[in-house]
Amino acid sequence: MKFDLITIFPHILDSYLNESILKRAQKKKLIKINFHDPRQFAKDRHKTVDDRPFGGGPGMIMKLEPLYKTLKKIKYTKKSLVILFDPAGKKFDQAMAKKFSELDQLIMISGRYEGVDARIEKFIDEKVSIGPYVLSGGELPAGVIIEAVSRLLPGVLGNQESLREETFTSNSEIRNQKSEIYKEYPHYTRPEVFKYTEKGQKKKLAVPKVLLSGNHKEIREWRARNKK
Ligand code: SAM
Repeated sequence: MKFDLITIFPHILDSYLNESILKRAQKKKLIKINFHDPRQFAKDRHKTVDDRPFGGGPGMIMKLEPLYKTLKKIKYTKKSLVILFDPAGKKFDQAMAKKFSELDQLIMISGRYEGVDARIEKFIDEKVSIGPYVLSGGELPAGVIIEAVSRLLPGVLGNQESLREETFTSNSEIRNQKSEIYKEYPHYTRPEVFKYTEKGQKKKLAVPKVLLSGNHKEIREWRARNKK
């Protein structure tokens, strides 16, 4: 799957995207991440891509033309979608991640400053927010989406089983009957008893016994009863 990110900071995610799972996914050519800097279409010496808002008000607005030209330069595949990051957009969730993972290409526009000239709406499919708070740009949201979507693609995770019982998974077989959202059970690993000292007192935290029993039926039932 291809991700195309339009940003005036094309190197801001370099370190994150080139580690661990996403690094391997790119190496295995399961995903390709392209960056497109709208400054390449700026007309002046200073590569200006923002301007003052008509009607007045604080801050600067990203100009439409460099963004439009950048969009035009990108090669679209058959199943592609263009999104604009906007804190007031549709909230990104696991269902949206799943929907995006079925595309060939996700084109993302990262806003900066006070946002983007509203006429960009004509050239996008959806506005997406990663949560009800305001960030300085859409680059972190892009990183969040690239990661959440990539891990749903076949071959990206070392162990595909991890996806099956993950929180928010929509696999109806294992979906928690009562709640709409499937929540994963809590995990424990060695040591069986964790010892620590608090305010001079020795304390212990033990792993639930059933998980050490080797009885798979009881473990399944315990996990079904004990969601995070
Ligand atoms: N003036 C805008 C407002 O009040 O809604 C905020 C602009 S913000 C400083 C700059 C850019 O960051 C936005 O255009 C958007 O692309 C991105 N951004 C900020 N918060 C975001 C969020 N929660 N989800 C997605 N994108 C966000």
